Amino acid sequence: SATSVDVLIIGAGAAGLMCAIAAGARGRSVRVLDHANKPGKKILMSGGGRCNFTNMHCGPDNFLSANPHFCKSALSRYTPWDFIALVEKHEVPYHEKTLGQLFCDRSSKDILNLLLAECEQVGASVETHTPVEIEQLGPPHRVRTPQETIDCESLVIATGGYSIPRMGATGWGFDFARELGLAVQATRAALVPFVFEGRKLEQLEGLAGISVDTRSTAAEGTFRENLLFTHKGLSGPAMLQVSSYWQPGEPVQIDLLPDQNLTEELKRLRRDRPRASLSTILAQHWPKRMAERWCELWFGHPTLAELSDQAIDNIVRHAQPWTVWPAGTEGYRTAEVTIGGVDTDELSSKTMEAKQQPGLFFIGEVVDVTGHLGGHNFQWAWASGQAAGQFV
Ligand code: FAD
Repeated sequence: SATSVDVLIIGAGAAGLMCAIAAGARGRSVRVLDHANKPGKKILMSGGGRCNFTNMHCGPDNFLSANPHFCKSALSRYTPWDFIALVEKHEVPYHEKTLGQLFCDRSSKDILNLLLAECEQVGASVETHTPVEIEQLGPPHRVRTPQETIDCESLVIATGGYSIPRMGATGWGFDFARELGLAVQATRAALVPFVFEGRKLEQLEGLAGISVDTRSTAAEGTFRENLLFTHKGLSGPAMLQVSSYWQPGEPVQIDLLPDQNLTEELKRLRRDRPRASLSTILAQHWPKRMAERWCELWFGHPTLAELSDQAIDNIVRHAQPWTVWPAGTEGYRTAEVTIGGVDTDELSSKTMEAKQQPGLFFIGEVVDVTGHLGGHNFQWAWASGQAAGQFV
């Protein structure tokens, strides 16, 4: 015999918990089931342990999706200010780090605790160690766990993406959608560092740990952010951002002097400071180690007087932009998000309900809506969870 509940949510992450709060507040009976040993593990590890829980400038332009309009409805009905109000209601101290990014002063635990407290207040139960099988779609839908069989009127899939498998991430939501015959946009790791191989990696030797300001571009994505050299390749916010736009085999273009015209500067200094060495001039803009490495690799050690126009062109070609060809990315092991997912054409942008499956909803990262770095992914989780929560 089956127990029954109004709303059953699979996945106790950011989106699932927010949906539970909204549905519970409407008087619906709600259970949230998660196969992991704890709810909200990604919330806990996010933002370096301080959870970048939203971004004050969040808007539709901060998202990638096969349909860039899909996210607009939910984002406009639950804004960063709505989430900030919740944070303030629970007296969680926070601060703006940069570019509208809001972080906890203390720890990500504050965010998870406030979500769990809200769930408790509206009577939504959050249950861990509970893998599920969908036995039959209705409504009522029938779901089986190792302990029991549960019937529900609304079934919400909030199982997230593939990133960080050791935290319990699976492709379960994508597979389930596919089994139902729903279209799923191709998935790949995003917000992820690049790796290099062979000679291209050797060129970066000795630079790990260095960070520089850049304007970086892959395909249609351009970001003014810092690049960080690593032992395996390139990371830092600039590279994480462009990784979402990058496809294997494509270049990444990195303007290493985003506020400068290097050609003009070198020609002017060749006149004004002919005896200065090139590496000294470059070290005025870049960390010294990087300036020296660039000279060693590509420019030699000329004085400015020794530079022909052609030599200046060659220098500029390695800086504005410096074009690199990554061998790949670090993949889901370190990616913050999965791009792609359940095709938004299959869902109502108002309710997140599957058009062909009454009472079945998809929210959060499992949907083909992926945010830029900086709190946008959580804002999507909150907004899509809230949207579904009004209709489940
Ligand atoms: P998740 O939060 O991933 O939740 C999915 C839940 O479903 C998990 O609890 C999982 O255990 C459960 N689950 C999965 N499969 C099953 C199954 N078969 N059965 C039952 N349960 C299942 N975004 C930001 O906006 N700001 C940040 O600072 C930030 N930092 C990040 C740092 C890291 C290291 C990572 C990996 C991501 C970060 N993100 C950040 C992205 C953000 O965490 C995700 O976009 C967000 O958590 C997605 O919410 P979700 O609820 O859709 O999925």
